[in-house]
Amino acid sequence: MILMNDFKAEPPELRDAMLEATRRVLESGWYVLGNEVVNFEKQWASTCGVEYGVGVGNGMDAIEIALRALNIGTGDEVITTPMTAFATVLAILRAGATPVLADIELDTALLSIESVKRCINNKTKAILLVHLYGQVRQMDEWLNICTNHKIALLEDCAQAHLATWKGKTAGSFGAAGAYSFYPTKNLGAAGDAGMLVTNDESIAKRSSQLRNYGQSVRYHHPELGMNSRLDEIHAAMLSERLKWLQEFTERRQQIARAYHAGIRNLHVNQLAPPEEHDAHVYHLYVITCKQREALQSHLHKNIQALIHYPICIHQQGPCISIKCDPLGLRNSELHAATCLSLPCHPQMSDADVATVITAVNSFQGA
Ligand SMILES: *Cc1c(COP(=O)(O)O)cnc(C)c1O
Repeated sequence: MILMNDFKAEPPELRDAMLEATRRVLESGWYVLGNEVVNFEKQWASTCGVEYGVGVGNGMDAIEIALRALNIGTGDEVITTPMTAFATVLAILRAGATPVLADIELDTALLSIESVKRCINNKTKAILLVHLYGQVRQMDEWLNICTNHKIALLEDCAQAHLATWKGKTAGSFGAAGAYSFYPTKNLGAAGDAGMLVTNDESIAKRSSQLRNYGQSVRYHHPELGMNSRLDEIHAAMLSERLKWLQEFTERRQQIARAYHAGIRNLHVNQLAPPEEHDAHVYHLYVITCKQREALQSHLHKNIQALIHYPICIHQQGPCISIKCDPLGLRNSELHAATCLSLPCHPQMSDADVATVITAVNSFQGA
C-alpha cells in the first residue's frame, strides 16, 4: 500500500537522532520552554529569514496568538479562504474576530484577489493568507492590497515550510506567519507543536506573553493569555528533523514534477504548476476529477488518496451563517467536490511514483 505519509519508512539515522534528542531532554530534567525551545525558535526564525520565532502548542494557536498580538478581536473582520483546515477559521473565531470568506481560483485553489477585494470594508483588519498545499503565490499583489487598505497581512504557513517566492520565505512577508509542526506537516514533531514567526519585536514579545497565561515576568499577568507552550521534547526532535527538511522538500518537488509530466487522463485535471520552482513545497499534490469517488476507489486497491478538503468552511454546521463574498463561493464548492490528494511524501520510491502515475492514467471513468 502506498500511503499518504509513511513515518515508519524514514531513514534509521533520523529515527536514531530523534531518540537521542529525546534522551537529551529527559536527562536535562527540563521539559517545557527551555533551551531546546530557544534553540529551535532561533533555527526556525533564521530558516524563515525573520528575527523572531515564538514556539507555541500548535498551528491553530499560532494564528490566534498572532491575531491577539495585533489587537485584532471583537468587531474586526479577517478575510480568509473557505478551502483550508478548519483550524484557520476556528483561530479567527477564538480570537473573537469575525471571519469573512472569499472565493478561490480554480487552477490553484488559492485565494482569489478579485474575491478578496469584494470583501474588504472599513471593518477589515487583516487578510489571513493560507499557503494552501504548500504554495506561495502573488505576494507582491497581496502586499500591495494590504498596504493600500492599511490592513495587516497574516500568513497561515502550516503547509508551506521552506516555500519561497522571489527569494523570500513563507512567513516573512506579512506582520506574522503561523507554522504548524503537526506530525504530517512537511516539518512535523511527534505530537502537536507550532510557531509564530515575525520581524516585529513587539508582536514577538506579546506572543511569548500570550502563550504563557499572559505572564510578563514570573507571577505577573498584565493580560489574560493562553496555555500554549512548546515542549522541549518536540523542539529537540524538530531540530533534528530540520536537518532533513531541505532534502525531503526536494524529494516532494521531484515527485510533483513526475506527476505533472506523467499524469495524462481525460477524466483528471491537474492544478497549474507554480510560477517558480521553490514557490511550492507540495505538502499535498492535488488533482481534480468529476468522478472522484470512482477514481478514489480505483486507486484504493493499492494507493491511499485523501480529500483536502471535502467540505468548505461555510458548509460546516457552526459556520453556515458566516460572512462570505457577496457573489458566493462557487469555485471553493466545486473544488471541494472534485479534489483528490495523491501520495507525495519523501519516503516514496521512484517505483511508487510510477505506480501512482500508471494507476491514475488507467482510470477509465465510471
Ligand atoms: C494543519 C493546519 C492548521 C492547524 O495546525 P495545527 O497544528 O493542527 O493546529 C492550520 N492551517 C492549515 C492550513 C493547516 O494545514
